[in-house]
Amino acid sequence: MQLLVQPKPFSDESLESYLLRLTEANFLESYRLLSGAVKEWLQEQDHEAGGAFPLELKTVNVWHARQSSSFRVRALSLFEKLSENKDLPLLSLSLRNSAADFCGNYRALARGGEHIPRCFIRKSSIPVCPLCLSESIYIPQAWHYLPYTACTKHGVNLVHNCPSCGIHISYLDSEMIGHCRCGYDLSRASVKSADPKSIWLSELVVQQDLGGCSPLEKTGSFSIRYAALLYFCIVNDADVNNEEEVERMLREAVDFYTCWPRAFHEVLSSDLEFSKAKLVKSYNKTALSFALGSKLSASTLIKGLTLQENFILNEILVFLDGVVNSYPKSKHPNYGDMLLTVKEAAALLQTTHDQVYLLYEDGYLHSSSKIGSHARFPPNQPVFFLRQVIELSKAKMPADFGASATYLPHW
Ligand SMILES: [Zn+2]
Ligand SMILES: [Zn+2]
Repeated sequence: MQLLVQPKPFSDESLESYLLRLTEANFLESYRLLSGAVKEWLQEQDHEAGGAFPLELKTVNVWHARQSSSFRVRALSLFEKLSENKDLPLLSLSLRNSAADFCGNYRALARGGEHIPRCFIRKSSIPVCPLCLSESIYIPQAWHYLPYTACTKHGVNLVHNCPSCGIHISYLDSEMIGHCRCGYDLSRASVKSADPKSIWLSELVVQQDLGGCSPLEKTGSFSIRYAALLYFCIVNDADVNNEEEVERMLREAVDFYTCWPRAFHEVLSSDLEFSKAKLVKSYNKTALSFALGSKLSASTLIKGLTLQENFILNEILVFLDGVVNSYPKSKHPNYGDMLLTVKEAAALLQTTHDQVYLLYEDGYLHSSSKIGSHARFPPNQPVFFLRQVIELSKAKMPADFGASATYLPHW
């Protein structure tokens, strides 16, 4: 089997879009004819790879292969060889599972060097910009991402529903790029100008260099921008599996990050203030999360970021350092005596859970409750005093190798 025509991929094109254009360029009537022939050929070459190659377009991308991601990668790399001249660019366009976790425990996907939270991937529809489609028939990867709601090139809202039949537009379901399943030419759909918030969010997804002084514009890292947007959703208790709720929350995040860091300090201060009214036990028996929720535990953003990169953790440190200084140790427990979990202490100290245990075992950190000599505190049990952790964070050794700070050697 051989594919005679190899279309050139657009640099921002999705894998699925490229496969549809490959189908058409090789004069095949439908994607199923291509996927059926490829599957049959794969099964002759390598049974496992053939088994891991789906016929449907909507599940072909690598990240959909939950159990056998490596077989799917193998299938696509064999498929790449089906071209007469150069290899097909399938793996470089694919979206894969990433080992990075966002904000503590949210799964991520990766394309190239860019990581995105899995919950930011659109599932129900893939909206389109009719003006882009009228210029060139392909789907950019960004149209799959929830923060991207307006075309940055044309300044118009993406269109979610077919103007003719009303169904959600999804080229993954219809296996056609320029037309709806009902036959409507999507490049003819009318468009509406997008508001500044939508444009701002969309630019964060596709433009590395942005003028502006919010931390999201200043960082050139798409991964850090996504992590910060996810952080806002999490600390505001959004249901991240609900696409509408996430989209609404992302719009609120625009105001929040535009007023950075003032808006963040105001929220943290009012959280502390509000905790006074609902306090049940004294402060030295109360978890910091009782006041701040997940704002500290989620602030790791992406494991391995330095403090310069992680502007959220940096501001939390500034804030908590201020709290500890304003409320010195006294007879009556105060905010500075609140309790942190192992996970939160590790986040503030920018180190591993193991290092936190070593600091505890060597007496640098005291705990509010006792534990057996070889036992460990569950990572989410509040046991360490905020004051001690903040004091220790100022004494840390510089992180010369890797971003994880070392306080004590393992021997
Ligand atoms: Zn456009
Ligand atoms: Zn339609």
